[in-house]
Amino acid sequence: MDARRVVIVGGGPGGYVAAIRAAQLGARVILIEKDRIGGTCLNRGCIPTKALLADAKTLRKLAHSPVFQRLLQPDFDPWPSMMERKAKVVQDLVHGIEVLLQSHRVTVKQGRADLLASHQVVVLDKGEKREVLDADAIILATGSHSKSLPNLIPDGEKIVTSDDVLELKKIPRDTVIVGGGYIGMEFATLFNILGSKVTIVEVLENILPGLEPEMIRQYRRVIEADGVKILTQSTIEEISANGDRLKLVVKTPQGIQEIMTEKVLVSVGRGPNLDLNFPEARVETSPKGIFVNSKMETTAPNVYAIGDATGGILLAHVASEQGVIAAENAMGMNRQMEDHPVPLCIFTYPEIASIGLTEKEARARGEIKIGRFPFRSNPTAVISAETEGLAKMIASKETDEVLGVHIIGPEASVLVSIAGLLMRQGIRLRDFGPMMQAHPTVSEALKEAALDADGSAIHLPKPLRPSAKG
Ligand code: FAD
Repeated sequence: MDARRVVIVGGGPGGYVAAIRAAQLGARVILIEKDRIGGTCLNRGCIPTKALLADAKTLRKLAHSPVFQRLLQPDFDPWPSMMERKAKVVQDLVHGIEVLLQSHRVTVKQGRADLLASHQVVVLDKGEKREVLDADAIILATGSHSKSLPNLIPDGEKIVTSDDVLELKKIPRDTVIVGGGYIGMEFATLFNILGSKVTIVEVLENILPGLEPEMIRQYRRVIEADGVKILTQSTIEEISANGDRLKLVVKTPQGIQEIMTEKVLVSVGRGPNLDLNFPEARVETSPKGIFVNSKMETTAPNVYAIGDATGGILLAHVASEQGVIAAENAMGMNRQMEDHPVPLCIFTYPEIASIGLTEKEARARGEIKIGRFPFRSNPTAVISAETEGLAKMIASKETDEVLGVHIIGPEASVLVSIAGLLMRQGIRLRDFGPMMQAHPTVSEALKEAALDADGSAIHLPKPLRPSAKG
């Protein structure tokens, strides 16, 4: 019997993972990518930003270190070498994915794909050569693009998107970031550490919407002390050129402010890439993305869609998981996306990670208990001089089920994985608290937060203990 032919459009973390999984299950896989394998995540998102942030955080650590501070020369500009290293990291990781795809015998076609029907894709390569491919199943993984605002259209020079920032030749003297979501705040950390004067303009009541407010408060304390200015409930009313800079008129609750800046980074969210011939294949869409069910099926038979193009939670690990589900269903299995909480990690300084319900959401469901543990009482945090922040665990008072975990501080993005395991496996808070953790590690902070929910944390002196547990 001939192998099933699976055609995948888009080679980001959704598409390339789907390609590998379908190949593992015996499909003949063709992956079509118009740009570079790895998609937004590897080329313009997760990876380059974290490579730059890793170097910036090292710089911050040196600048705050009583031992190494003196090594920093006042005229030292790390940006050119950081950009070089970032390019190398991206190149190495993209190459790694290409090798993986090759090893699974995935055929990669370079070109722009479009749908001809629910079982046919057409590929146009750079020379406008047209190739029609028949498929038993098609997986759409076309990703997303930066949105802009009507009065803030990026020009790639003074008004820029996250894509442009990753190609900057030098760090601007000052930067206004429009949008205080996680991408905006990661760039705020980066630019601030590198000496740019950063102002955030956010239309909502607070930055990082949806995140546990206690984490936002802690984060704001650090970043504002580091010099970042945050204007909430604020909008840019006018923008005009002023010499080599821009003059912004910003409406804030306190009145109108004028800000002069070298760059404006527009970071106001992302929209799905929907420029395919969907009606022809009977794939229904909305401005938010391609409609899919929990099996990642679209409205057209044998056509699946995954990742940012579906407009759900715009994170690489979500796209990849959906890629696995779509590939398995395309190969005749019967899989559904599980309804487990999704971890969110924000690689600012300090790092923030969160999974499950916020305190307010958990309270709305019934009585809860809360445990907290500050990193200033965790030996590893003290050793590494990263004592800002805390771990906060929220559980049901009645069942002891872990409902939400929120962490701001060192290794938050690693610790959240323990929290995810507790929640997925239904491990109760009272069973996690007594579990031994190696010493000295940041994991001890999570253990102590769990113990604190029942008033039995060991390293919390009485005056530090929060008075209200529930
Ligand atoms: P994409 O990665 O966008 O890939 C889609 C691919 O499809 C692209 O390569 C595109 O060229 C191709 N394509 C589109 N249309 C066609 C067509 N017609 N024919 C052929 N090819 C086509 N997520 C995290 O989880 N962690 C992070 O730390 C993180 N940081 C981020 C930082 C930034 C600055 C940005 C912008 C995003 C970040 N994200 C992060 C989000 C993450 O990058 C996306 O959620 C993820 O890339 C989505 O994967 P995808 O496969 O759905 O789409």
